[in-house]
Amino acid sequence: MTTWAYRPRPSLATTSQPMVARTAAQPGNQAVLRRLSASAGAAPQQTKGAAEAPCPPFHSFPEDIYQAMEAAWKRTNHGGEEVTEHGGRIVSDWRGKRKIRTGVGESESIHLPEEKFGDDTLSTFHTHPYSKAKGAHLGVGFSSDDIKGFVLGQQGGADYVTAGSCNFALTVADPAKRDACQDVDFEKRFRPVFNTTSGGVQNAVNQGNKAAIAGCGLCYYQACRPDPNSPIPRVGVLI
Ligand SMILES: [Zn+2]
Repeated sequence: MTTWAYRPRPSLATTSQPMVARTAAQPGNQAVLRRLSASAGAAPQQTKGAAEAPCPPFHSFPEDIYQAMEAAWKRTNHGGEEVTEHGGRIVSDWRGKRKIRTGVGESESIHLPEEKFGDDTLSTFHTHPYSKAKGAHLGVGFSSDDIKGFVLGQQGGADYVTAGSCNFALTVADPAKRDACQDVDFEKRFRPVFNTTSGGVQNAVNQGNKAAIAGCGLCYYQACRPDPNSPIPRVGVLI
């Protein structure tokens, strides 16, 4: 089966934003967790940004994927001279058993492993490392081609990225709307917003992505560690 397996990274070169290595202050994961526990059992709240699709306000990262991303990140050599993307395909195999098939990409792209006979892809993940020469950015979310690959399908119901300080998730709220966006030029939607958004490259990427997926039935989540010594939270917040 042909899959969209080659996904180049976004160019950050045309932005006039100051390149910061740490992500800008996030909307408080501790506050999120407090809200989560306070609203346990309550119906999901609609939040800003969810107007076009019924996106739940939070997304819990599956523990096996969380662990796999952490392990993959350690292999990227982020911040070094040469970096390598790592990733994986989470499948239900021919026996119906959940498995993570891992793969290695290049410095700015990921080659996801192909499905094996009988596999049903549930989701995929990959890393976003940056070399020292490229700014060693942490916390940079999905690229336009990541979004395109996800919309074109065969990647299951969720796509995950780890960027060292933050994990990101793309999920599907409305499959029909997603399918109607197969011909969308996501880069064309992304770039002008990215180029004019302040607050650091991470925020510019997030806002660009939000504009790119508007109306496409997708939900975009971010989970960032509150400081360099803390783990990345297991729960992402809707962007
Ligand atoms: Zn990517």
